[in-house]
Amino acid sequence: EKFFKKLPKVELHAHINGSISEDTMATLVARKQAVDQDWRLMYRKGESDTLEGVFKMFKLIHQITDNTDAVYKVTYDVIHEFAADNVKYLELRTTPRAEPGTGMTKTAYVEAVIQAIQDCALEDIDIIVRLILAIDRRHSVSVAMETVNLAAEYRKKTEGLVVGVDFSGDPSVGDGSDFIPVFEEARRHGLKLALHLAEVPAPDETWKLLQLPPDRIGHGTCLQPEVGGTQQLVDFVTAKRIPLELCLTSNIVGRTVPDYDNHHFLFWYDRRHPCIVCTDDKGVFSTTLSNEYSVAADTFNLSRDQVWQLSLDSIDHLFSDDEVKRKLRHKERKLTRSTG
Ligand code: IMP
Repeated sequence: EKFFKKLPKVELHAHINGSISEDTMATLVARKQAVDQDWRLMYRKGESDTLEGVFKMFKLIHQITDNTDAVYKVTYDVIHEFAADNVKYLELRTTPRAEPGTGMTKTAYVEAVIQAIQDCALEDIDIIVRLILAIDRRHSVSVAMETVNLAAEYRKKTEGLVVGVDFSGDPSVGDGSDFIPVFEEARRHGLKLALHLAEVPAPDETWKLLQLPPDRIGHGTCLQPEVGGTQQLVDFVTAKRIPLELCLTSNIVGRTVPDYDNHHFLFWYDRRHPCIVCTDDKGVFSTTLSNEYSVAADTFNLSRDQVWQLSLDSIDHLFSDDEVKRKLRHKERKLTRSTG
């Protein structure tokens, strides 16, 4: 287990409010009175054992992170937790949220997140952090356009700390293809696209969104014909070599995949398709990136060399410039030599 922790890692799919640790939750809950005291039970997966339960959990977390101090603290703590797990590069994603009750605006939300990232960069922790702003598919196209504008504005203001936009939220709601003009606009601003696709069977929507094409796919659980996708989807993703962000524990807990053995990781990995191991929501799913690598290695019989290579190859798909990639590759190679 030590091996997986020591392995230098890259995390490319982590939702801030889903990554909140139990410790941070406890601290924030203590600051509030009107919170369901059963949260700890829910947090230990009792509630979040279906995708529906997972979304209930987010609702609860959002009640607690309803002010800029909490948003700052969650972001700050999450970065430190990933750094302690030997994550060397982290792309966090989050949905800008306004809370009329506390007066938090979306701009204030984004600024709190950015402030935490910038403060961490001044500290003595070895991690590079970038930000992706998330579009919640439950909201309207005009809200999504607002998010793209915020991302473009803060990309400029922070000289590239904001690297892209995500598309997420309850996959059973709405038609994702309505948002295509929004993603085209994002691209015009130089923002990369990391889209949750085929998290549940939705071949028509998935096909339309693939034509953009996205720079990375979140989950891609139901691309294959056997699980509600089509051969055309598989062929397209394969031909374009669109990297997949794969979150094993998340899919098992959310029950979009029956068990680890049947996770689509194997299908794509066997075809030498770019696969990136990610946590999704390390708090809600009680996991770490080390644990996800360990589970992947155990389930699919990966050798240590294969695990190293998997981690190293993830660097190719991050949304920062080549300078950052070179730096990270150099760091990994140096470590490989020193640990043998
Ligand atoms: P936040 O964006 O930082 O508030 O993180 C929580 C949000 O991320 C949720 O409300 C969802 O919109 C999104 N999210 C987290 N995990 C998933 C997932 O597995 N599928 C789809 N959306 C997700």
